[in-house]
Amino acid sequence: MTSLEIGRASLRDVPTYSPDVTSCAVDLRDNINLFGTSPSALAAVRAVDATALSEYPDVAGRTLVDALATQLGVSPDEIVTGCGSDDVLDAAIRAVAEPGAVLAHPSPSFSMVPIFARLNGLVPVAVPLTADGSADADAMLATGARIIYLCSPNNPTGTITDANIVRRIVRESSAIVILDGAYAEFAPELEDLRSDAPALERLLVVRTFSKAWGLAGLRVGYGVGGRALAQAVQKSRGPYKLNTVAERAAVAALTHDDAWMRAQASAAVECRDRAVRELRTLGLSPLDSRGNFVCVPVTNARTMADALATRGIAVRAFTGLPVFGDVLRIGMAPWPVIARVVRAIGEILA
Ligand SMILES: *Cc1c(COP(=O)(O)O)cnc(C)c1O
Repeated sequence: MTSLEIGRASLRDVPTYSPDVTSCAVDLRDNINLFGTSPSALAAVRAVDATALSEYPDVAGRTLVDALATQLGVSPDEIVTGCGSDDVLDAAIRAVAEPGAVLAHPSPSFSMVPIFARLNGLVPVAVPLTADGSADADAMLATGARIIYLCSPNNPTGTITDANIVRRIVRESSAIVILDGAYAEFAPELEDLRSDAPALERLLVVRTFSKAWGLAGLRVGYGVGGRALAQAVQKSRGPYKLNTVAERAAVAALTHDDAWMRAQASAAVECRDRAVRELRTLGLSPLDSRGNFVCVPVTNARTMADALATRGIAVRAFTGLPVFGDVLRIGMAPWPVIARVVRAIGEILA
């Protein structure tokens, strides 16, 4: 038996997530918080005692669930935590759809979603974004999908789907709608649907501590939705996914570092807007990003990313995307770093 024959047949066609590794001094590929990490979370990690390691965590991450429930004004049984929001997305897909069901997702969008769909035996259907980068509600609805995934601000474009469009999709479909808000903290002007999600029953709003909170290494994410939905996701997710150290850190961040998070997020947004202005002066047309990254269409993203890599700068290159073609996605960092990137792009174009 070859190694290929060990995995189940449908697994063979699923691509392995393997972002290219790089030794670049400046790494702007992951949209993480390059302005820092939550100081209270770091203190909580440093303060762990032996029992935090030797004992099992709470089955469901109860202290984080309670802290979030209080902050959002929802019931604890309307929240489900996970090992990163990836875990929540994966478990949600498995919780609400049988193998063979359709999951509709915008394209381009978060690359893991069609992978999670296929890992769970679902059929992903890509629905191109509109020209302004919003989810196309009519086209999404026309799929008749069991699950409709939305991402706002969207990765990799940074563009948004208005909350009213999300509400319309929930109202006019019978689908379970997953709204991924991994970058929502960078767009506080957008309507926050977390507190409304339980009443909408079929909407799960998914969030992460990996981006604005600077805690990607700890793997903490959560979803908020109707009780039946949240509990189904919890059941399909399984126990103990949120480890004790991560749980304590996330609770500390949420309890003490809200102002810190907002300040970091607005610094990233300032950088982004300045980067957009400067890239425009180079003749480029960055998209209207509301995340902590810039998405800029270029003629040949691979060539451009390689040229940046030779200058010690790693960015993410996407080629041949629907609607936008080749783009570079550049994560934000303190301005001197971004200034260097803009300068390098100017040199490459010249
Ligand atoms: C980064 C990212 C996530 C993953 O978050 P984790 O909580 O680290 O698993 C989810 N969705 C989108 C759109 C992302 O960009």
